[in-house]
Amino acid sequence: MTMQWQEQVSLKPFNTFGIDVKARYFVQVHDDDEVREALAEARRRGVPVFVIGGGSNLLLTRDIDALVLHMASRGRRVLVDDGERVVIEAEAGEPWHPFVQWSLEQGLCGLENLSLIPGTVGAAPMQNVGAYGVEIKDVFAGLTALDRETGELHEFDLRACAFGYRDSVFKRTPGRWLILRVRFALSHALQAHLDYGPVRQRLAEQGVQQPTAQAISDAICSIRREKLPDPAELGNAGSFFKNPVVAAEQVLRIRAEHPGVVAYPQDDGQMKLAAGWLIEQAGWKGYRQGDAGVHRLQSLVLVNHGQASGAQLHELAQRIQADILERFGVALEMEPNLY
Ligand code: FAD
Ligand code: NAP
Repeated sequence: MTMQWQEQVSLKPFNTFGIDVKARYFVQVHDDDEVREALAEARRRGVPVFVIGGGSNLLLTRDIDALVLHMASRGRRVLVDDGERVVIEAEAGEPWHPFVQWSLEQGLCGLENLSLIPGTVGAAPMQNVGAYGVEIKDVFAGLTALDRETGELHEFDLRACAFGYRDSVFKRTPGRWLILRVRFALSHALQAHLDYGPVRQRLAEQGVQQPTAQAISDAICSIRREKLPDPAELGNAGSFFKNPVVAAEQVLRIRAEHPGVVAYPQDDGQMKLAAGWLIEQAGWKGYRQGDAGVHRLQSLVLVNHGQASGAQLHELAQRIQADILERFGVALEMEPNLY
């Protein structure tokens, strides 16, 4: 496959908010050699490099004066299968949801709760993607990344990734690591996680009594399709704010005024507040200013109704942050990566 360097490329089709900013240079890379070649060429031209996968966790507020390197590597394989424990691997550019579906078709369990998350395999470790009570750290078996400072390959195990809630060493050191491929430890036997949100109820409604991994995946897909806007129809980057983890006393203070506040206890004694609930209480659900808005069904999701710029969406996000801080004393942190 030959690499094609392009100039002044619109990134509108490459970010799920559908924001129309330009990349000074743009190249799609399909394997490790092309990654190295692109990095070397960027050095020769004296431009920084900005890596993107599916663009589903980005808020682009300006043109990108850099080489945008689009991960388009493909490949997925079973590395180990001893009849019980199975290790699979996928290249960074593999689209996430088809990879999850492929793992289910192999009869493998572990990724079902992470169905229908947009984006690529290579970006999933960036924020330790999670949904419905499972995060990739729970099924993680290792990854290979290129150190952009030294050009060397590094193997990361679970500890080295320092995964946290929507967080990892990769997110904390932006621009250092380029993730090339990721491995997952799955199983032929299902360990179902059904206690999160409406999963169990949806399975019951569907008449499923003994759910398989595929049935759980199908139930989660059906819930997500109802609740979340499809980026192909309405630009968005999923949850725009992280759920804030705060001291239990703070939740008690909020509860005194707002008895309905939604909060979940954490292992360390703190509480995780549902940011969506706070935003909805503050009256932002369905709000719209120009083409920048808050989704009408899910207040945690900011949406682009058409022509909103990244700066307009960012400004709306900042207004929401200021309002939530004033009303509840809670600081909301943005989840998507801002450029
Ligand atoms: P991009 O947006 O392309 O990139 C994100 C960041 O990772 C950027 O900083 C980029 O530079 C970096 N990056 C990308 N690829 C690499 C690589 N190979 N090596 C190094 N750095 C890289 N997230 C969840 O956690 N749970 C959910 O349930 C969830 N649901 C979503 C639902 C919707 C409708 C949408 C739009 C988003 C949702 N997200 C969710 C957010 C998003 O899909 C995930 O964070 C996803 O992993 C981002 O992948 P991407 O390939 O699109 O990353
Ligand atoms: P939801 O079911 O309406 O729940 C609201 C929030 O409460 C969720 O964000 C979730 O936190 C938390 N929660 C629910 N049940 C919980 C439990 N039993 N224990 C602890 N916390 C609980 O959420 P939703 O917005 O429809 O999303 C469903 C799942 O998909 C969530 O896990 C969410 O994170 C994930 N999702 C993520 C994105 C993204 O872009 N990051 C987008 C869409 C959906 P957590 O978010 O911490 O899980």
